[in-house]
Amino acid sequence: MKKEQKLYCPISDKCGGCQYLHMPYEEQLNVKQEQMKKLLGKYGKVEAVEGMEQPLYYRHKVTAAVGRKKDGTIYSGVYEEKSHRILPNKSCYLENQLADEIIQEIVRLIKSFKLTVYNEKSGFGLVRHIMVRVGYHTGQIMVILVMTSNIFPGSKNFVKALREKYPQITTIVQNVNDKDTTFVLGERDIILYGKGYIEDSICGKNFKISPQSFYQVNPAQTEVLYRTAIELAHLSGKEKVIDAYCGTGTIGIAASGKASEVIGVELNQNAVRDAIQNAKINQIKNIRFYKEDAGRFMVAMAEAGEKADVVFMDPPRSGSDEAFLKSVTKLAPKRIVYISCGPDTLARDLKFLTGKGGYQVEKIIPVDMFCFTAHCECVVGLSRK
Ligand code: SAH
Repeated sequence: MKKEQKLYCPISDKCGGCQYLHMPYEEQLNVKQEQMKKLLGKYGKVEAVEGMEQPLYYRHKVTAAVGRKKDGTIYSGVYEEKSHRILPNKSCYLENQLADEIIQEIVRLIKSFKLTVYNEKSGFGLVRHIMVRVGYHTGQIMVILVMTSNIFPGSKNFVKALREKYPQITTIVQNVNDKDTTFVLGERDIILYGKGYIEDSICGKNFKISPQSFYQVNPAQTEVLYRTAIELAHLSGKEKVIDAYCGTGTIGIAASGKASEVIGVELNQNAVRDAIQNAKINQIKNIRFYKEDAGRFMVAMAEAGEKADVVFMDPPRSGSDEAFLKSVTKLAPKRIVYISCGPDTLARDLKFLTGKGGYQVEKIIPVDMFCFTAHCECVVGLSRK
């Protein structure tokens, strides 16, 4: 793609997924930097946004809803913004192209196997969603067929036909979601083919991705994000590090070789289970994970008289909260590396950390994880005053 090229998508207005599609990529990066300057400039210099060389087709997790038109045509697509109407759509500038192709093949198979399609209003029908996850470095591919029932007529032949067309698929999972919900995945996974998960690597470490696992959707930039975060931590190998809001442990595991000890804290039980497994896969011995509220965990550490040298914090978009931030200042690490996907909450939290918290901002580096959208990820390095 040429840097000044403008793109056009017939459904972008209704889908609302890529607010900056009309903007050349260079301009998007400038716009994002300006926005970050406005929000965060008073805390320190905002560096240039780390952009992508190839900013298209970066999403390695692709979800499509399956619908049926009045005339019986079966199609896949995305939900219209703020609605539950499925807009027919076969490809997307943001999505991995092979994943989109596989989804189209599955739609054809749904037709030829005469499977029924879920209707949200009536609650009847079998197939709800198709999800495809592609390993960036490994090329392993997982297909997840979300259905309302565990009964999948002709599943063996369906799998065979799909694998014949796309032998690159390494695993196929049926996920059962019979609830009236906006969540795509239900709780139950039935492995139809392969191991039931794929593997991928970031920063030289291997990670297991199950259907339910949280894993950043833009793997190429995740590597840039983690590398940037680890650089800002200035690790020498002697530090005790906390990876707060650690998810499946990716940041802590990527940093473990440069630290003496890492503690990951995460609220979600499944994520903690994945994190423990990921540490095992990489034979990392100096990392431990706790399933707890990150704030409460750090208060308990501080009260027990324990210390930490560096805290990585990567909270959800809603940001952190005052209880957590107070607990960090109680623990008083030398450095905090704040990784944020919500610049507004980041600004709010920086106000506290640089005020009452007693920290100063050393560097602010935005990373473009979500090219062609208005979202911006940011890494901030702070040190104790
Ligand atoms: N650092 C990870 C995940 C970041 S997403 C990565 O890069 O992949 C944010 C994570 O914070 C989610 O996994 C969510 O479950 C977790 N979380 C949310 N509130 C929390 C809390 N109060 N304490 C600990 N973890 C929390």
